[in-house]
Amino acid sequence: MRVAVDPQICEANGVCMGIAPTIFALDEDDILHIDDPVLRAETATLINDAVAQCPRAALSVVE
Ligand code: SF4
Repeated sequence: MRVAVDPQICEANGVCMGIAPTIFALDEDDILHIDDPVLRAETATLINDAVAQCPRAALSVVE
């Protein structure tokens, strides 16, 4: 399982990056990059929190 972003919906507000800065990063053009998308034991909680708290519901966990 991995987390994915819908770039058409993301508004680059950085909420996910604030929750999990080692996983999500905005570049200088405000494009969100997911550096570590795979849900592992040590990242799943952070990723699920970011998915739940994205104000635009732009993140989803996919197979
Ligand atoms: S929290 Fe959602 S809208 Fe904000 S940067 Fe992350 S994916 Fe985009």
